[in-house]
Amino acid sequence: MSDTSSRLRIVWIYPDLLSTYGDQGNVLILRRRAEQRGIPTEIVHVHSSDSVPVEGDIYLLGGGEDRPQILAAERLIADGGLKRAAARGACVFSVCAGYQIIGETYGDDDDKPLPGVGIIDIRSGRGATRAVGEIVADVDPSLGVGRITGFENHQGRTAIGAQATPLSTTVKGIGNDDHTEGAYQGQVLGTYLHGPALPRNPALADLLLRWRVGEIPPLPPSWGETLHEERLAAAL
Ligand code: GLN
Repeated sequence: MSDTSSRLRIVWIYPDLLSTYGDQGNVLILRRRAEQRGIPTEIVHVHSSDSVPVEGDIYLLGGGEDRPQILAAERLIADGGLKRAAARGACVFSVCAGYQIIGETYGDDDDKPLPGVGIIDIRSGRGATRAVGEIVADVDPSLGVGRITGFENHQGRTAIGAQATPLSTTVKGIGNDDHTEGAYQGQVLGTYLHGPALPRNPALADLLLRWRVGEIPPLPPSWGETLHEERLAAAL
């Protein structure tokens, strides 16, 4: 962990612009699963008028409508804090609009390419149809997460560049392009999954914690695992 107080610093970026479908639940479950292992946490809410602190451990970005998404990208680029944090190896977990804008480019409402923050090698544009509904995907086996589920609602489609790796193979739903879902590059990870994604997929939350603190003991199964199984059964 990065700071002198040895707390895991979780930074919630722009709740005023990027927070659809309960994505803030990602913050809450990360804190809970860290503290259940005796890892103290500090939650920092960064509104879009604030500068992004560079010394965080895990940065979270949620989904957003087209216009707030553009505003968020402009502010993040002008601020520079998230890019500096990623350059020093921080973990970034981003969802949908948040995923698109941390890439190299993304499409505005007319599909004009706009610059992203540029911390992951992906490019997004708009698809012919809107992807809406339950999504199921199998995560890259090297990450030890297994099958994930969520809810997707986006017009965007995402191409993964050579520096990034698809997060998962789509089993049901659209994700990036009908074949893969999400991407990661080092500890920068993006996904189209809402739900919110981390409460619905405790193993994905634990992946982020492992990246920051190393091996962590398993937790006894809780409502999170029950929810995961229930949503999987409902989706397939
Ligand atoms: N506006 C973006 C799209 O439609 C992201 C949507 C979202 O975050 N739910 O692709």
